[in-house]
Amino acid sequence: MDEIWKKQKWLSRAAFVSKGETSDYVGQNCNPKYTELIEDGWSHDHCEICWWSLHELENSDSGEGYTNDGRSWLCTECYEQSVVTKA
Ligand SMILES: [Zn+2]
Repeated sequence: MDEIWKKQKWLSRAAFVSKGETSDYVGQNCNPKYTELIEDGWSHDHCEICWWSLHELENSDSGEGYTNDGRSWLCTECYEQSVVTKA
């Protein structure tokens, strides 16, 4: 793995909701008739390895994780086990 993982506080972000499906808002165009942009619609992510949920919380177990691009997340525990030990 040569990505750079950085410890960050997980923050909710904008999401599109279209026909009941939530997708990441990355500045794409959309048809406002079918799609709604919700400011904090992306309410959590999952750790890529153990599927631990990360939320916008003060608690560092659930409120902080490691990310390389803001979309893939690892919880602190998996980061320490899989990234640090291999480095
Ligand atoms: Zn994990």
